[in-house]
Amino acid sequence: MTQIIDGEALAGEIREGVADAVAAFESEGVTPGLATVLMEADPASETYVNMKQRDCEEVGIDGIHVEVDADAPEAALFDRIDELNDDDGVHGILVQMPVPDHVDERAAQAAVDPAKDVDGFNPENVGRLVAGEPRFRPCTPFGIQRLLADAGVETAGADVVVVGRSNIVGRPLANLLTRRADDGNATVTICHSKTADLAAHTRRADVVVAAAGVPELIGREEVTPETTVVDVGINRVERDGESTLVGDADFEALDGYVDAITPVPGGVGPMTRAMLLYNTVLAARRQTGLDVPLP
Ligand code: NDP
Repeated sequence: MTQIIDGEALAGEIREGVADAVAAFESEGVTPGLATVLMEADPASETYVNMKQRDCEEVGIDGIHVEVDADAPEAALFDRIDELNDDDGVHGILVQMPVPDHVDERAAQAAVDPAKDVDGFNPENVGRLVAGEPRFRPCTPFGIQRLLADAGVETAGADVVVVGRSNIVGRPLANLLTRRADDGNATVTICHSKTADLAAHTRRADVVVAAAGVPELIGREEVTPETTVVDVGINRVERDGESTLVGDADFEALDGYVDAITPVPGGVGPMTRAMLLYNTVLAARRQTGLDVPLP
């Protein structure tokens, strides 16, 4: 029988733990704060930011939302980020991507104080991650590590194939899983669109992480009954005239065939959101020096 790895349930537990941590901060007179910065007026980005603000509200984190006019010069964005960097009530800052074309995305990520960079995309923090000493783990890879640990999937010594080499999922995940650490110590292969024979790699993996943004790329041909499949993909497709959400793995074909799988929705997605809350209370703990237990 295939184990369905329930990200919604684990994310709920983490949110409860974050809410407890926030209460402990409150008793010391501190409210952890997360600022979201939105410059591009894109409906998907607005939805993501609204979800993050709602999550903050649920656990008691002070959500501060800043909007910068999409036509404003790059400096307007950097000025707002500087203000947030200097604000003691703001412990975490997230700049919602994408930014408009006239703004240098890397410069926007670099403008965030590394100590408040709860997304983990400031180049200094990327460097620390690559060196095996992450300050903040990027939320999606962090969520995947927690999901695997919770599901009892051992990464030490495991062959993990990550399909996708983006800076937000594939690369940071490979870095985290190869760390000399209890939730690392894996042997990791990164595949991408130029990989010659994807199935040859994925079929010998203990764990396949599908993060390609290609609907149902991973089917029975790409796995074995021993495989654990972590499905990061979020793809909207038309089925029978209706718009529906599918992952990068063919869930219907793999349920009942592989050892374990994360569903879409309800797998990696809720964990990504929960780990942002976790990183915010982690940032608050470091900045205040208060020894608050984290989930
Ligand atoms: P990107 O488009 O930035 O990267 C996709 C990667 O997949 C690229 O490295 C690309 O290769 C590779 N790829 C594309 N097609 C194939 C193929 N046929 N075979 C092998 N590799 C392929 O995507 P993201 O990393 O940002 O996101 C990936 C997916 O995860 C998306 O569906 C996205 O919506 C979802 N996502 C979900 C999150 C969550 O919380 N659940 C969070 C973030 C993303 P190349 O480099 O050669 O182009």
